[in-house]
Amino acid sequence: MDNNTKRNEPWREELRKSIKNKERADKSRVHMRELPADYRNKNNEEVNCGLTKEEALNEAKRCLDCPAPSCTNGCPVGIDIPQFVKNIERGEILEAAKIIKQTSALPAVCSRVCPQEKQCEAECIYAQKMGKEAVAIGYLERFAADYERESGQMAVPECAPSNGIKVAAVGSGPAGLAFASDMAKRGYSVTVFEALHEIGGVLKYGIPEFRLPNSIIDVEIEMLKKLGVEIVTNCIVGKTITFEDLQAQGYKALFVGSGAGLPRFMNIPGENLIGVMSSNEYLTRINLMGALRDGDTPVLSGKNVAIIGGGNTAMDAVRTAKRLGAEHAMIVYRRSEAEMPARIEEIKHAKEEGVEFMPLHNPIEYIGDEKGRVKQMRLQKMELGEPDASGRRSPVEIPGAIETIDVDTVIVSIGVSPNPLVPSSIKDLSVSKWGTITVNDGMQSSVPTIFAGGDIVRGGATVILAMGDGRRAAAAMDEYLKSC
Ligand SMILES: Cc1cc2nc3c(=O)[nH]c(=O)nc-3n(C[C@H](O)[C@H](O)[C@H](O)COP(=O)(O)OP(=O)(O)OC[C@H]3O[C@@H](n4cnc5c(N)ncnc54)[C@H](O)[C@@H]3O)c2cc1C
Ligand code: SF4
Repeated sequence: MDNNTKRNEPWREELRKSIKNKERADKSRVHMRELPADYRNKNNEEVNCGLTKEEALNEAKRCLDCPAPSCTNGCPVGIDIPQFVKNIERGEILEAAKIIKQTSALPAVCSRVCPQEKQCEAECIYAQKMGKEAVAIGYLERFAADYERESGQMAVPECAPSNGIKVAAVGSGPAGLAFASDMAKRGYSVTVFEALHEIGGVLKYGIPEFRLPNSIIDVEIEMLKKLGVEIVTNCIVGKTITFEDLQAQGYKALFVGSGAGLPRFMNIPGENLIGVMSSNEYLTRINLMGALRDGDTPVLSGKNVAIIGGGNTAMDAVRTAKRLGAEHAMIVYRRSEAEMPARIEEIKHAKEEGVEFMPLHNPIEYIGDEKGRVKQMRLQKMELGEPDASGRRSPVEIPGAIETIDVDTVIVSIGVSPNPLVPSSIKDLSVSKWGTITVNDGMQSSVPTIFAGGDIVRGGATVILAMGDGRRAAAAMDEYLKSC
């Protein structure tokens, strides 16, 4: 059914007529309740509390059910936004959840971590033409996904009868999970190989529980298992098992969703001092290896902690440092706050929780004590110059403006590179100069039986894009295997 046909369904026409557009537009946007900043910055509880049913129904009434809904164009996987929002408005929440799941494999996850303000909500007519706050599409998505999970009536998607064809995925991040789910639904026998002992990729080892509780991801993983997907953990493809081994075991095609887990450093003096580490290492120790829970994994819980960078990862690391008891948890960023790539909500939450921001500062050296432990850092003050190739105004040094400040922990969070292990272990696989796997529109690599998607193709990107790639690769791999 196309958009117009759905929009003309009697229940939707009725709903549109039930409230005047002016009345809808006069309502103000819902605000999601949050835990108080002074309480939440000492524990790992989820900060955002979700909407009540009443709040969700009210917010859904704001949506004007536009004839040409621009919001949908802003969603990287094209969720039918008005159809799910209008189902919430009429109280059919499980139906709303079903509609989201037609295009998004992990709605409870994406509604928590997607940069909605830059995607669907940025395209909503309220933001585009009316100078008002967009419909809270992300909050409504979260409401529908949580409602479905808590109802105990989660729909297990239907699977085609088994076709007996074995395919494999490397990596259990959002790309691998979305791929596996779609291939299982098409009747394939799917195995996911994961290097770590936990499933979920960055969702588990990177994003902290105060933003994305692990229990939410586990429900999605259980769903995959119900679809018959087999998951093998502690298995590094390219080391524990090779591509040739997989072929010999009868796997007909492979999806590589191995992410971009290789940290970048700035190559400045003192970066190998004790106490200087990547955000990847820091967050993995805490989120995945239980550094806080059982004490087996050591973690440095400094008093003066500097995080270098301004992205989502930097915000996660700095807010984690605050929760570990840092007296000063600082964001050091070489551009101004307006250029920070992190979600606005994460910057706001970090500030409320007591994080200190040092924009227009760039580290040039870390200084150690006699035991080789970092004790200070030298910062070059910056100002904004002309926009660079990315359109952001580039930072320029202010000559001679250097300050030295005390630090005992430095977490470098300036981006990631693709993990080279899988690409380097497969003969004839084309990679770009950045080490990403090159693919065509169907996510197929230079080796016809190998498809790839997510951060290993894009470099560090987003959950929804990784998931969309996994789904596109599944569709294309299915076509390819049928034609063989
Ligand atoms: C701290 C942090 C916060 C973030 N916050 C956000 C956010 O708020 N919103 C957002 O949209 N995005 C966010 N991102 C980015 C987002 O998480 C990634 O873009 C996304 O997870 C990429 O998915 P993926 O499936 O490609 O890879 P990953 O999630 O990295 O998963 C790859 C998996 O492959 C495994 N693997 C690697 N090599 C092998 C091998 N050889 N054999 C077997 N397994 C292997 C890895 O162990 C890993 O589990 C964040 C990233 C980080 C690090
Ligand atoms: S653009 Fe905004 S108001 Fe229009 S259908 Fe989408 S969410 Fe509703």
